Amino acid sequence: MNPKNLIAICLFIAAAAVAQENPFFKPSTLPYQAPPFDKIKDSDYQPAIEEGMKQELAEVEAIADDPAPPTFANTFEAMEKSGALLRRVQRVFGGLAQSNTNPTIQKVQQEMAPKLAAHRDAIVLNPKLFARIKAIDDQRDALKLDAEQKQLVERTYRDFVRAGALLSDPDKVTLRALNKEQSQLTTAFRKKVLADTNASAVVIDDRAMLDGLPESDIAAAAAAAKERGLEGKWVLTLQNTTQQPPDTYLKDRALRERLFTASSKRGNHGGENDVTQIVTRLAQLRAQRAKLLGFSNFAAYNLDDEMAKRPDNALKLMTDMVAASTAKAKAEQARMEKLAGGPIGPQDWQFYAEQVRRAEYDLDESQVRPYFELSRVLNDGVFFAANKLYGITFKERKDIPVYQPDVRVFEVFDVDGKPLALFYLDPFARASKSGGAWTSGFAGQSSLLGTKPIVTNNENFPKPAEGQPALLTFGEVTTMFHEFGHALHSMFSNVKYPSLAGSSVPRDFVEFPSQFNEHWALEPAVFANYAKHYKTGEPIPAALVEKIRKAQTFNQGFATTEYLAAALLDMAWHTIPADAAPPQDVNAFEHAALERFKIDMAAVPPRYHTTYFSHIWGGGYAAGYYAYLWSDVLDEDAFAWFKEHGGMTRANGQRFRDMVLSRGGTQDPAALYRAFRGRDPRVEPLLESRGLM
Ligand SMILES: [Zn+2]
Repeated sequence: MNPKNLIAICLFIAAAAVAQENPFFKPSTLPYQAPPFDKIKDSDYQPAIEEGMKQELAEVEAIADDPAPPTFANTFEAMEKSGALLRRVQRVFGGLAQSNTNPTIQKVQQEMAPKLAAHRDAIVLNPKLFARIKAIDDQRDALKLDAEQKQLVERTYRDFVRAGALLSDPDKVTLRALNKEQSQLTTAFRKKVLADTNASAVVIDDRAMLDGLPESDIAAAAAAAKERGLEGKWVLTLQNTTQQPPDTYLKDRALRERLFTASSKRGNHGGENDVTQIVTRLAQLRAQRAKLLGFSNFAAYNLDDEMAKRPDNALKLMTDMVAASTAKAKAEQARMEKLAGGPIGPQDWQFYAEQVRRAEYDLDESQVRPYFELSRVLNDGVFFAANKLYGITFKERKDIPVYQPDVRVFEVFDVDGKPLALFYLDPFARASKSGGAWTSGFAGQSSLLGTKPIVTNNENFPKPAEGQPALLTFGEVTTMFHEFGHALHSMFSNVKYPSLAGSSVPRDFVEFPSQFNEHWALEPAVFANYAKHYKTGEPIPAALVEKIRKAQTFNQGFATTEYLAAALLDMAWHTIPADAAPPQDVNAFEHAALERFKIDMAAVPPRYHTTYFSHIWGGGYAAGYYAYLWSDVLDEDAFAWFKEHGGMTRANGQRFRDMVLSRGGTQDPAALYRAFRGRDPRVEPLLESRGLM
């Protein structure tokens, strides 16, 4: 036998073996097709993504080249079925890249990002495919389509146009180049911000400096130091936001300042993790992309597809609130300066806010935390509320493999006891996880594909020291309810086509179910059920409940102002015209923008400064951070509907599920809301809830 042939055969067998072992190449055999994390290796991602792109491209080309005339079935339904492998691997890979990354995953991400951008362009810019889509869209009213099919046709046509399908060939070439560069810069931004957030954690040698910090936090800081190989020291890790929770307690002003400065300088102090060049270039690229697609700036392009429709609608909602919220913040500041006996800076705000809260509301954060133990909040709060409203039940599944030992998996059952979804909770902060809290998932619901939702909630709660309970702040409790609201939106999805499932809705609608769900955290029946002392099981004293309730509008001037500052900053970056030179100095640009919007308070910096504003540079919220406020109008107004109709009842919950949560993107969100509420949303309930009217 020719030895050369032998080698070739051996290589062939080896390649076949690798292909067989890659767990993404076939649907998982686990319940709900859950990812087999016990089998998935980091080396499986890249080959699966590459093979997934190859398969999807072949499938899409077969649809585009189909000699049969275009029909809904051979074009739209066929497209919805295509790309199964890529979808499978990307959901897992994308999830882990955010919540449990490592150098291998980051390398794959960096290498794959421009290829994936080019892959998507190869589909949306395929002229034969678009011709078929257009042919069906042109006759969509004449065809016998049901409402969901019609929505899918309109939606897909619109997505293709927004992605450049109507451009000339030379413009398509330009667009592809812009997309490629954008994908590379976005990946680089994410990597650098995570690296700098980890590198900027504050290391403390002397325990005495931590005076004021609750014992459980000190223990967590010691554990964080140990994790970094700094045994005997303490590490204050950074959260996503400008303000850092330990500043609420630290009595040492110099340390507060050190922590605050470490946070607000992230990505903006030179060196290899500096992102100033990246963000200015990204802003410019997006403006150029928008211009190519016929819009005056990126915000105009983005909002054209949102509920708000135009930047001035979003801007008006925000700028209308600036005067009231800054006035309230100034009053809060004056009250604190009286207590402090002198001027206070941004590093002092939380510390003195806490002092005022203790003095005026007699409410001490460390006094309430023992009543908010994580597991109890989850089972007896978040799950309990979902059961009261929607009748669903939960069972922990320890047999489903996880990607990290802190992750917990629950099976969710519908009212009739039938399986509904899988839910993963990944609660704790770690160096391999991006900051903030978010919802994603490993599978979406679709009756066409026969898939049920697999939803994940990620938080960044400080991990307690070994053997200690995780005691949350009320803010963190609210975060759990928030993310679970997103989860419900995915779990209750009841649609046929995967593109329209769950949270496939405009960005300024997507925060509606999540913020709506926050309301139940303080619902008396729910609160009484979960707020119990972690040691004794005693219910939280009624007096303490009353104090928490009263303190709800406390510090809202600050909270609203720091939010508005960030949201307006986002708009400022994304209303730069395409032909303007990129800003030379990020700090100067920020300052000028905030001054223009009349948010010029040195003591209230934006919730995120430009250089670590991951929502807009690394996530999907570019020209979209206003969405929280926009959705807040909806959620407060919807909650008012509940109050008008008997509150937390199964019937009301069912109605909300049927008319909002189960609909995904099958209907125009404004129409959907109107049908639920009986009218358009009103802003008054929002202003009232924040004490701004
Ligand atoms: Zn959210």
